[in-house]
Amino acid sequence: MMIKEFIIDFIRLFFPVTCSVCHKNLSKNEGVLCSSCYFNMPRTRFHNDENNAVCQLFWGRVKIEKATALFYYFKHSKYQSLIHQLKYKGKTDVGQELGKMLGGELLRSGFLKDIDVLVPVPLHPKKEKKRGYNQSFYICKGISEVSGIPIDSNTLVRNVYTETQTKRNRNDRYCNVKDAFSNKHSENFSSKHILLIDDVVTTGATLESCSNKILEIANSKVSIASLAVASN
Ligand SMILES: [Zn+2]
Repeated sequence: MMIKEFIIDFIRLFFPVTCSVCHKNLSKNEGVLCSSCYFNMPRTRFHNDENNAVCQLFWGRVKIEKATALFYYFKHSKYQSLIHQLKYKGKTDVGQELGKMLGGELLRSGFLKDIDVLVPVPLHPKKEKKRGYNQSFYICKGISEVSGIPIDSNTLVRNVYTETQTKRNRNDRYCNVKDAFSNKHSENFSSKHILLIDDVVTTGATLESCSNKILEIANSKVSIASLAVASN
């Protein structure tokens, strides 16, 4: 046995690392999910379907080249806790590992073949300061790690404070985020195909607003990939 593996085993004996979904202890070959939760994840398998439910959210609203998500976000599903840990519990490693899973699937499906840059949906600076990080940036990190596609988190920025959206309907939400974004260095996105990255797609209002802002830049194209898509 390699010394490094021995040390990992030794540490895990006292500080077990547990599956982020079912909380069983993980073996040293498992990352954030145990093999059972990994295989049973409710994957969408949307990547090659141009009429999928994420694409349909944007029909008639904004021109998106391709859109997809890794898994379904069902209310009260045990997989819901992954997003909760990523957004509210500081578990950035969950975002990065799931980003690697998403990136691997996108790479194998050919989804990434003409993508130039990964862009995390920006948080309002106040919110990011409070949380300490932008969860979507860690999803980008995972995708970038497996694909080699660079991340740009400085060009698209968020500029007005929008209050919490949970009680708002789609139109209210859209108005609320319509002017929330700006392009700081537009030239970075000129003639580029941008892949916007989010944690959960619900109504698509925020992504629609980001996309409209990016599409103001000459010859830019936008696609969307999210960890999860809300489903009833
Ligand atoms: Zn598990």
